[in-house]
Amino acid sequence: MYRGGIEVICGCMFSGKTEELLRRIRRAELARLPVQLFKHAIDTRYTDGHVESHSSMRLPAIGAMTVSEIREKLNPQAWIIGIDEAQFYEPGIVDLVVDLANRGRRIIIAGLDTDFRGKPFGPMPQLMAVADDVTKIQAVCMVCGSPATCTQRTTTSQDLVVVGATDSYEARCRQCFRPGV
Ligand code: ADP
Ligand code: MG
Ligand code: ZN
Repeated sequence: MYRGGIEVICGCMFSGKTEELLRRIRRAELARLPVQLFKHAIDTRYTDGHVESHSSMRLPAIGAMTVSEIREKLNPQAWIIGIDEAQFYEPGIVDLVVDLANRGRRIIIAGLDTDFRGKPFGPMPQLMAVADDVTKIQAVCMVCGSPATCTQRTTTSQDLVVVGATDSYEARCRQCFRPGV
């Protein structure tokens, strides 16, 4: 009998969160477990219907803008549920994943732990708190080559989210990071 749980994969942009999420989902598929993969639909321009990593790994995914949209689209038969870009969801995502885990589901969540200001991003701190397992991964600093934990915005926009603009961000270590610049 499968016991449910919550796994969080977090880190800055380009740290490999989506790759790691897709790796775990693929393994579940190999085990012939019923899988469902969601991604926040904030940006559907390039990867409509897919989760895609910066290294072009991809798997089909269901777009959902809100937590209630995830609830509506959830397949009750799915035992493994992946969610990418979880930082964009409302606080209600926490109750949803706890409820699903309590009902035996394995939830694998990937999301940015901090935003371009270096502040905790959306529901990620709460998701990390309720998780059974947290994996925090690092990118490579684009200035000095050290392990990177920060997401540097390279445009002047002050909006929290600059949609679809991976060329507007780069990974930086703490020393090279200039919050909000
Ligand atoms: P995330 O979902 O965390 O933004 P992805 O899983 O989409 O990251 O992409 C990770 C991949 O991005 C790496 O395997 C590598 O090919 C590529 N990449 C590009 N820039 C960097 C960087 N600065 N540090 C690490 N990987 C990078
Ligand atoms: Mg990603
Ligand atoms: Zn650096």
